[in-house]
Amino acid sequence: MIKTEVSPTVSTFLQQEKRLLIGGEWVPSLSGKKIPAINPADGKVLTYFEAGNEEDVNRAVEAARKAFETGEWPAMTPLEREKLLWKIAEIIEQHADELAELETLDNGKPISNALNIDVAGASNVFRYYAGWPTKLRGETNPVSRSGYLNYTMREPVGVVGQIIPWNYPLMMASWKLAPALAAGTTIILKPAEQTSLSALRLGELLIEAGVPAGVINIITGTGAEAGTAISSHPGIDKIAFTGSTTVGQQIMTAGSSNIKKISLELGGKSPNIIFADADIGAAAIGAAEGIFYNMGQDCTAGSRVFVQREVYEEVVEKIVSYAKELKIGYGTDPSTQIGPIVSARQLDRVMEYVQIGVEEGARLLTGGNRVTKDSFDNGYFIEPAVFADVKNTMRIAQEEIFGPVVTIIPFENENTLINQANDSIYGLGAGIWTRDVSKAHSVAKQLKAGMVWINSYGAVDPAAPFGGYKMSGNGREMGEYAMELYTEIKSVWVKIG
Ligand code: NAD
Repeated sequence: MIKTEVSPTVSTFLQQEKRLLIGGEWVPSLSGKKIPAINPADGKVLTYFEAGNEEDVNRAVEAARKAFETGEWPAMTPLEREKLLWKIAEIIEQHADELAELETLDNGKPISNALNIDVAGASNVFRYYAGWPTKLRGETNPVSRSGYLNYTMREPVGVVGQIIPWNYPLMMASWKLAPALAAGTTIILKPAEQTSLSALRLGELLIEAGVPAGVINIITGTGAEAGTAISSHPGIDKIAFTGSTTVGQQIMTAGSSNIKKISLELGGKSPNIIFADADIGAAAIGAAEGIFYNMGQDCTAGSRVFVQREVYEEVVEKIVSYAKELKIGYGTDPSTQIGPIVSARQLDRVMEYVQIGVEEGARLLTGGNRVTKDSFDNGYFIEPAVFADVKNTMRIAQEEIFGPVVTIIPFENENTLINQANDSIYGLGAGIWTRDVSKAHSVAKQLKAGMVWINSYGAVDPAAPFGGYKMSGNGREMGEYAMELYTEIKSVWVKIG
């Protein structure tokens, strides 16, 4: 219940005029339109920021193209780029508390998560990609044409548009920016209109770190205006997007105008599977954390928990008691585990799905109500909801809710399970809980998912690929896979004989 005061540093930032970052300068939008940044904990306006439009995007693309082709950036050696990325990681660490506080105010998430996961995840990804510029090698190829040498080199893909969501604002910005910088591209970043503040503060820190003018441009604004202007711009060579599958489809269509390279991290309806031979205590906690972390606003959320019939009621009971004990509160309170949902619109969407689940005949065992006690009624708080006796064909098991709502589905055996688990348009994550090593690997092989966690759920790391099968996306972020997203391969033939 404590609502701590805003720190002087964050308060000063909130009071400053927010601008667009174009060509190394903070400039107003051409339209002069503003968007309010709303604190989801109390529905109040924190500050206003610019609604960038097509003309602003045009200016940013021009600056990014200039920075890509001429001046300091293309002249920078791989070692110098490494130093720059490392420095960004350090500056983020130095400002960790401030960034976490800003993220919590703007997004609602618990401050401990903002600090230990979001901000730490942001600095770690810059640190990891700091190692890549000097490792981007080409190859010599054993061609059968005599008298020829063939070799390849990796070159930056050009000007990149990056459109990111509101669930992990700073971390998503960093996952996108770090490999793109390591590859030597220049960037136009558009944060989500619900959560643009941490990206703007990051922009200031990037300048402080020494990122040359025009290399990173930040255009805040709506998806309909700034987002579409980026995805359809003929001067942008590649789009990297994280968000809903519907918008991912629109981006693919818009990007076809100049055959942009497109990588997409989209929605999920990930199965988290508990076999009867698992460590049931650990599995039930893992399943509950797998859905309720970040208020379920996570593309890899384990939103379909499959439990083998023999242990079904036991697991359901444990998940229900876990959900009931979660501490709901302001994100700024260090003891909070469940903060508000990011926006009024997203809260309505989650509440609507709770209603749909009840109408479909699933058993709502706890939660699903808006929290109105104390002074929470102006914020977007909802009690974590647990549905049992869910059928995989129900809408609540098929559609991405993106909120703290878990559907628990019973299964009989491995064969019936695999069909149900794979019966989804999505294929992002999957969890398997069992003590049987062969079964764990056999199920992992059969699941159509980009990431499988065995006896745990949801681990991510800059070195491990991240992305999905089917309508969960295209391409993989993290590790060397992201370097492929941001580079072109050039094949060079030399007549030597
Ligand atoms: P969204 O996909 O509309 O927004 C994500 C980003 O795309 C934002 O920056 C937004 O401004 C931009 N955008 C929106 N329309 C665009 C367009 N036509 N062209 C280019 N960019 C555009 O997500 P949302 O509406 O905020 O949330 C709706 C649902 O999307 C959620 O309920 C959830 O299911 C899903 N979602 C998924 C993720 C994820 O990480 N996979 C993140 C956020 C939301």
